[in-house]
Amino acid sequence: MSKQEAPVKKNDTVEVIIEDLTHDGAGVAKLNGYALFIPKALPGEKIKAKVVKVKKGYGFGRVLEIVEESKDRVNAPCPIFNQCGGCQLQHMSYEAQLRYKQKQVKDVLERIGKITDVPVHPTLGMSEPWRYRNKAQVPVGEEEGGLIAGFYQERSHRIIDMDECLIQHEENDKVIQKVKELARDVGIRGYDEERHRGTLRHVVARYGKRTGDIMVVLITRGQELPHKNKLIEAIRESIPNIKSIVQNINSKRTNVIFGEKTVILWGDEYIYDFIGDIKFAISARSFYQVNPEQTKVLYDKALDYAALTGTETVIDAYCGIGTISLFLAQNARHVYGVEIVPEAISDAKRNAKLNGFTNVDFAVGEAEKVIPWWHAQGIRPDVIVVDPPRKGCDDKLLGTILAMKPKRVVYVSCNPATLARDLRVLEDGGYKTQEVQPVDMFPWTTHVECISQLVLKND
Ligand code: SAH
Repeated sequence: MSKQEAPVKKNDTVEVIIEDLTHDGAGVAKLNGYALFIPKALPGEKIKAKVVKVKKGYGFGRVLEIVEESKDRVNAPCPIFNQCGGCQLQHMSYEAQLRYKQKQVKDVLERIGKITDVPVHPTLGMSEPWRYRNKAQVPVGEEEGGLIAGFYQERSHRIIDMDECLIQHEENDKVIQKVKELARDVGIRGYDEERHRGTLRHVVARYGKRTGDIMVVLITRGQELPHKNKLIEAIRESIPNIKSIVQNINSKRTNVIFGEKTVILWGDEYIYDFIGDIKFAISARSFYQVNPEQTKVLYDKALDYAALTGTETVIDAYCGIGTISLFLAQNARHVYGVEIVPEAISDAKRNAKLNGFTNVDFAVGEAEKVIPWWHAQGIRPDVIVVDPPRKGCDDKLLGTILAMKPKRVVYVSCNPATLARDLRVLEDGGYKTQEVQPVDMFPWTTHVECISQLVLKND
């Protein structure tokens, strides 16, 4: 089918009904089958929009007027919602967001995976969906009056100063404000991305919600941090729960936040937090889920879907710092975790020791290479858990799962599209998807996390 010619021109004004939302939260209207994407418009709304971009199969519009408003529309509580881009759905009630995420998963499973007969449960949301993040990473720059720290204006590299972020834990907001003030007072220069000059590039705050521990990471362009001692002193005085102050050096011209070298300026290398009864050590660069409350909900579901009785051998593929592995190890005979980042595996081993687990083994490497090797060694898992990055599982890994024939597969996914693709492969190979549970890890954003259980069909 050839792509449809656009029935509109740039700068036209149109009145349309919004039918759906895209995966990035824009409203979708159809003009005789031609899709017009309109950010910040909600399903069911009648919108007067200006056409701002016209392509062959689709175009983009901007809301001029909401002629008929959806009952799901709310006033975005954050004053910088429209400039920031960190959240995409603050104009939609929380309840409607949860419904939208469930529908997204259902639609994608059907469209991409041809999976139609599987229950997709209502999204598990938060009772208090604000202030959930335990980590803030704030870019630092300069304005005429001195150092500023905030966020990049949507689709640009211009930093806009910010005082608070409503999805960030209050403690992190306080820490960022304090460090900003103190750095400004002692005369530290903010980073100038264009000319690759200045000192402070990012401030990162990490907070252990259960322990109250706070870590501050100062990411600098070079080794040198002028007025270092004065700054450390001032941070310690004004942030009582501070446990760790760290400098990370990133001398490259890059968008990547962290550099290779980390120096402890004061206190410990780690802060601690708990998920359920398990304690985790978190260092400046460790990957640790940003919404600890919902992480517990997700991992409880993983444990539920793994259906362990204490006798099982389990593999946790893409295990990060071993969070899911240790959760499973509470009820399994033995857990094997594999992860590609060596530092994450060191963290995983440390966390196992910290909690006294002796029934876990961790290996560094690609899941698609290490697991076939385990298979060759005679390891026979009853359950395999996978939690891959957005691109989903490697084909070879799916092949190995089909060859190993575990009784159950638990698939944790941050991208419904690759989940759908991979479930299709597992279904064709003899598994049945029992159910899919979306869990809202990132309220007010379009990110959708879900977990599903597959069982081996008797043949
Ligand atoms: N299960 C962990 C982390 C999941 S994030 C948790 O819940 O915290 C996905 C992880 O997969 C990342 O840590 C990433 O480094 C790792 N990864 C990416 N590609 C991989 C591969 N081919 N083999 C093993 N691990 C990989």
